[in-house]
Amino acid sequence: MIKHFINGQWIASQSTQSLDIPNPATGEILEKCPLGTSEELASAVAAAKEAFKTWRKTPAVDRTQYFFKLKNLMEESFEELATLVTKEHGKTLVEARGSVRRGIQMVETACGMPTLLMGKHFEDIAPGIDCKAVNRPMGVFGVIAPFNFPAMVPFWFWPFGVAAGNTIVIKPSERVPLTQVKVFELIEKAGFPKGVVNMVHGGKDVVNAMCTHPDVQGVSFVGSTPVARHVYTTATSHGKRVQALGGAKNVMVVLPDAVMDKAAATAFESIVGCAGERCLAGSVVLAVGKDTAKKIEDMIVIRAKETIIGNGLDKNTQMGPLISQEAKDRVKGLIQSAIDEGAKLLVDGREGVDQMQGYFLKPTVLSGIKTHMRIAKEEVFGPVVLLAEANDFDEAIHWVNDSPFGNTTTLFTTSGAAARKFSYEVDPAMIGINIGVPAPMSFFSFGGTKDSFFGDVKAHGTACINFYTDTKVTVERWDSNANVWAKN
Ligand code: NAD
Repeated sequence: MIKHFINGQWIASQSTQSLDIPNPATGEILEKCPLGTSEELASAVAAAKEAFKTWRKTPAVDRTQYFFKLKNLMEESFEELATLVTKEHGKTLVEARGSVRRGIQMVETACGMPTLLMGKHFEDIAPGIDCKAVNRPMGVFGVIAPFNFPAMVPFWFWPFGVAAGNTIVIKPSERVPLTQVKVFELIEKAGFPKGVVNMVHGGKDVVNAMCTHPDVQGVSFVGSTPVARHVYTTATSHGKRVQALGGAKNVMVVLPDAVMDKAAATAFESIVGCAGERCLAGSVVLAVGKDTAKKIEDMIVIRAKETIIGNGLDKNTQMGPLISQEAKDRVKGLIQSAIDEGAKLLVDGREGVDQMQGYFLKPTVLSGIKTHMRIAKEEVFGPVVLLAEANDFDEAIHWVNDSPFGNTTTLFTTSGAAARKFSYEVDPAMIGINIGVPAPMSFFSFGGTKDSFFGDVKAHGTACINFYTDTKVTVERWDSNANVWAKN
């Protein structure tokens, strides 16, 4: 059974409930994750609150030294971290390495926190009166993670919060907690003072305890839209700052002037990479015009049939399994619903996978997708290519904006004017032009619009300082008294 990390100690949970953690490629049980209690969350918050008293006064340049150490330790353990991601999540080792690299980049960017923390000073706002504004850390923050990026997602938040002088409690996904256990071994090795960074394992009880605890100042959440909405509503009604990143339904538009083979390859990779378990994964490939649709369809069907599925640790594997049998059954159900609603099945990824030991599904291709179909509205989170057609560019943009989600969208084109129109008119907040997974780097903000994001300040980027600090303004007048100084 894995342990919590509270106040610098590895602590066994007292909970009577736990989850088995299987390797989704083999079904082998790797570990057990305790479903922690609200009392355990409270003890982590208490430790973080106590640690904050000293940590907030530690100069920012000293705080960031721990992150330089952590970065080096993560580089040393890079392969071990990536292998753990593949073992507990299933994605290929190449994909896992990419996600660990992104995590390290967050730590590197957090090392620049002293510059971001700088305040403002203005002389003579009135005669002899000056004004200064400082960015002050606030206390204990919480992070709640989803299953699909076990290494990366917590790093979107906590390095920035902690480098800014706050302390933190992280709840990894109870479905993939093992990579974070390794990360916390490195956090311990880096020597962060006790109580500054804490981890409590668990599910909704820990989430709800975090969202309602009076000593938690803010909560960062990543997961499905219903839970994101619940976290946002609960935590804001308890006076907390919240950034809650939810689900997605991402449309990729292909214009007739696109470089077709590149567009097909990029769109396909976007959809089936990480077995489709990415919030930035494309879902619908919306071709403008019949010719474009036919060209894209032919190229994508070939790719789908050629994809090699298997254990992500095998270097020949191009796509790993889904996270669980439940996820596989849900995606199979969505495929069937599309067929029942009139979509044409061009490649059936359900064939020949049920005798495999893991939770595998091959890439599936469906054409004739219409906006009213269930599969066109719901997030699939699996390797399913949905092919659709629009008569013109405006109709395609309307499709993109008709969705309740607003995470990402992509345009394939060789026209700068079309690219500008697209970026200008679409609702999603992360836009790709000839890029299938337009994931903003650590120094840009990450997050969508509409039902894909609840809150005001998005993840990482320079604006994160607004989430993790409060501005304190002092207006001051110091009457000069030359006579007093003369006497002394
Ligand atoms: P999830 O919502 O099931 O779980 C996310 C977290 O919420 C977990 O830590 C879980 O313990 C907790 N949780 C689950 N049910 C809860 C409940 N009823 N009450 C309180 N807490 C609860 O999401 P998931 O399946 O782990 O992750 C996949 C989802 O995350 C997808 O919808 C995906 O699009 C989304 N996601 C979004 C982004 C983004 O940037 N917008 C990034 C990654 C993943």
